[in-house]
Amino acid sequence: MRKQIAAANWKMNLSFQQAEKLLDEILAADISLANHQLAIFAVPFPYLLMTRSELEEMPQYKVAAQNCHQKKSGAFTGEVAAEMLHSIGVQYCIIGHSERREYFSESNIQLAEKVNICFENYVTPIFCCGEPLAVREAGNQNSFVENQLKESLFHLPAAKAKELIIAYEPIWAIGTGKTATTEQAQEMHAHLRNVLAAHFGNDVANEIPILYGGSVKAANAKEIFACDDVDGGLVGGASLVAADFVEIIKALQ
Ligand code: PEP
Repeated sequence: MRKQIAAANWKMNLSFQQAEKLLDEILAADISLANHQLAIFAVPFPYLLMTRSELEEMPQYKVAAQNCHQKKSGAFTGEVAAEMLHSIGVQYCIIGHSERREYFSESNIQLAEKVNICFENYVTPIFCCGEPLAVREAGNQNSFVENQLKESLFHLPAAKAKELIIAYEPIWAIGTGKTATTEQAQEMHAHLRNVLAAHFGNDVANEIPILYGGSVKAANAKEIFACDDVDGGLVGGASLVAADFVEIIKALQ
């Protein structure tokens, strides 16, 4: 059965104390998740260990990093290696968030290297793709996103591709309050699954969770997650409010 996932992306927000409090409040809701459901918290690097230890006894709750470097180790001041994440028990890492692509000029080719180094270190990439507004307005979103997958993921053997998590995040919907309609989300998710099936085969495509990201809120999560090819969400703003993220996790059920 394909995994269903509610993933929080805290980005560069919250003090350590605020992060602990937010996590405590969310965990206090004590939402029990089935074996095929996960809640993942992508937290700033300094909070990874705290989050991992808070989630220790909760097998369906996981911690993720928001980025890692593409090289194994070395003179890259300020960067964090996938091997370091693995060494502290981090099993997931967001790769290619649109903010990394835009503000840090991360290219599809560089992201392919990040995906590789994650897999080499037993870290599952949560690979983000999605088109900017101008591309959507020109009607070219399908080929744009297909190319992101091709250049960053198509080199993988099928056995590895099967372990990926993909997040479709239309850039025009991130942090804007503008959510894709359920039709737009379903249409793109089905397209992505077809692209994956054509390259890796149906079995692999049917295994890969494809999350939707872009102004998911407590009020719209259920409707979006109900789409056939939407397997949960990657959530920014609403993941910073305990009551909202609790509702979003519940929307998986
Ligand atoms: C994100 O940053 O991945 C995101 C989807 O943000 P928001 O939910 O705030 O649109």
